[in-house]
Amino acid sequence: MTTMRAAVMYEQGPASVLKIETIPIPDIAPHEVLLRIKSSGVSYHDVVERNGTYRFNVHFPMIIGYELSGIVERVGGAVQTLAEGDRVCCKPFHSCGMCRLCRNGHETACEKRQPVRGGYAEFTAIAEETLVKIPDNVSFDHACMMGAATGVALNAVRDTAHVTLGDTVLVTGASGGLGLPSIELARAAGATVIAVSRSEHKRQALLNIGADHVVIAGDGEDFSKEVKALTDGQGVSVVIDNVGSRVFTPSFRSMAIAGRYAFVGQLFRENISINPALIFFKRAQLLGVGSVRRDQLEDAVKLVAAGKVHPQVAAVLPLEDVARAHEMVEAGDQIGRVVLHP
Ligand SMILES: [Zn+2]
Repeated sequence: MTTMRAAVMYEQGPASVLKIETIPIPDIAPHEVLLRIKSSGVSYHDVVERNGTYRFNVHFPMIIGYELSGIVERVGGAVQTLAEGDRVCCKPFHSCGMCRLCRNGHETACEKRQPVRGGYAEFTAIAEETLVKIPDNVSFDHACMMGAATGVALNAVRDTAHVTLGDTVLVTGASGGLGLPSIELARAAGATVIAVSRSEHKRQALLNIGADHVVIAGDGEDFSKEVKALTDGQGVSVVIDNVGSRVFTPSFRSMAIAGRYAFVGQLFRENISINPALIFFKRAQLLGVGSVRRDQLEDAVKLVAAGKVHPQVAAVLPLEDVARAHEMVEAGDQIGRVVLHP
């Protein structure tokens, strides 16, 4: 077999720019494996990379998709830790392992960082360094979202905001790919969780996943009074913000003295505006969360395998329905990931 099916993009635009084609199976470099993709998550980042909102690192022809899981089909000559038949998931980027940032614990900001792409296809050539093995009791549909969703949430909740027993945690974008695992992880750490969502019809699902309280608020709406009321007037000790500029002001107002504000996502282009005095009056800590390290992804896999975190699958579609998958993600009515089966 020398060819494969893939969704190829020759320009940015509506979902119809994703063309299903038969193309050659890629060659692999010595440090890469050929991965037979079993599941490929469709994230909102894929949507903005396709529709033209996001232009960084976009080139044509391009196969997008960076939430992959699958089976190692063939290994390059320099691959040491993987063998044919291994089940794996991946980080959303490849790091060099050699630069100063890789050596001091900041591989997510590696000087030679290369984004993973190629998920909307039957096969992809992918660096060994990006892949983490998954046990048999973790499904490919769950595994595909462990890097960019579960793993990033673990980075935010455990390793950046240091959520612990007794914390009260506000999670914005609660029903999204980052929000759902953030709720579960904060609960598992012993925190009380307040989830913010735009849709009333998602309230019950968020409570079922583990939120203690759900606050419904549209973009730009000030929900801080409700959050203060839920916290005896104190405010939350941690904000995990997966939305960005449009919820910053009410989220910051919702925060208690000496609170930790973790910036995880920015879905819009607008800047935020704040008087610096408000930051020191509040003794606030503003924290940037960037992607997921390899060791964090390994821990995310263990947490899912142990049943502590439950990745949510909204729908599974064949690769041929990639345009419909994008329309679903753009509409944002579902809870959990839309997953493609190439
Ligand atoms: Zn590096």
